[in-house]
Amino acid sequence: MRNLHPKSFGLLLLIAGAQFSYANRNFSDNLRTVLQRIESQSDRYDKDLAELVRFPSVSALHQHEGDVLAAARWLSERLQAAGLQNVEILSTDGPQPVVYGEWLGATNPHAPTVLVYGHYDVQPVDPLDAWESPPFEVSKRDGYYYGRGVDDDKGGLLQAVQAVEAWLQETGAVPINVKFLLEGQEEVMSPHLTAFLQRHAGRLVADLALSADGGQPAADRGGISLGLRGVVSLQLDVVTADTDMHSGMKGGSSANSNHVLAALLAGMRDPRTQAVTVEGFYDDVARITDLDRRDMEMYDFNPEKEAAELGLLGHVGEEGYSILEQRWLRPTLEVVGMAGGFTGEGIKTVIPRSAMAKISCRLAPRQTPQDILKKVCCTVHLPNE
Ligand SMILES: [Zn+2]
Repeated sequence: MRNLHPKSFGLLLLIAGAQFSYANRNFSDNLRTVLQRIESQSDRYDKDLAELVRFPSVSALHQHEGDVLAAARWLSERLQAAGLQNVEILSTDGPQPVVYGEWLGATNPHAPTVLVYGHYDVQPVDPLDAWESPPFEVSKRDGYYYGRGVDDDKGGLLQAVQAVEAWLQETGAVPINVKFLLEGQEEVMSPHLTAFLQRHAGRLVADLALSADGGQPAADRGGISLGLRGVVSLQLDVVTADTDMHSGMKGGSSANSNHVLAALLAGMRDPRTQAVTVEGFYDDVARITDLDRRDMEMYDFNPEKEAAELGLLGHVGEEGYSILEQRWLRPTLEVVGMAGGFTGEGIKTVIPRSAMAKISCRLAPRQTPQDILKKVCCTVHLPNE
């Protein structure tokens, strides 16, 4: 979901350009005409978004590998049409390639080179019945666009491309040098991006990297995120028998994988303070400073408004920390998926032999995925151990 305001990221690029072009008298005139052009082309930008969203480029599902490739091909053509040079689809060690393009013609010798990151893959769309309109068709309702990837990140990366294009259309040049790295496996944690970056390090050299994947505080308020929390994910499988058992014959006396799993998960969080109880979990987390708190106060966050917009029952979280502190500076441990036993319609009187949970931990600065993974795994033992 995204507000009808397709210029935010483009504006960032313009600002970056402005930083280095203030000596140029023509700059503000150019900026004005570029903005006018962006305003006048919104129908074309809508068409771009609709075309790119139409590819079901779900990186997590093998059956969509062809769609991921088709999205990459569409993007490479779009980059060329925008006036980018040396556009290429570069393979990674996975099935999702990187789309690369550059424009390095800035006349100011001090102009920086900005590497713009974005991703054209999307999350799966289920549950399908929760969508009010087909996920791969952009639909506009009440001033918002809906469709899978409209916000994350097809819309975001298009804005950056369109900003560069508008500069080229209007002035024949961009005030800065730009390189685009658009990948197709962000939603599956970019397993091959590091190797790709190492392989293409020379080509990707830049003064500044900007992620076109992210949000802003409000439609009429820009923002620059200086960092994001990290993440580590795991799947917890509990197996308590070789076979499912009849609840009438064996129930009451046999370990039930669902119950064991529920107890394990419940034990990972203090029910009163909501703090994660995994031993050593917070060891490396930096203390929140007064400056952090002042910055967060300026953000002007309205929890009631957010809860109303999301239909959220309420905010819960770690005692002693504000909502923004919980979101920005504290680590988390969240159960993001669970399955076990019979989940179809009706009832099946079975003691399940296995149950599964997927856990995702957001990491604060200084925590490492390896360390947190080890600590979480250490807490996993059967209740009678
Ligand atoms: Zn994203």
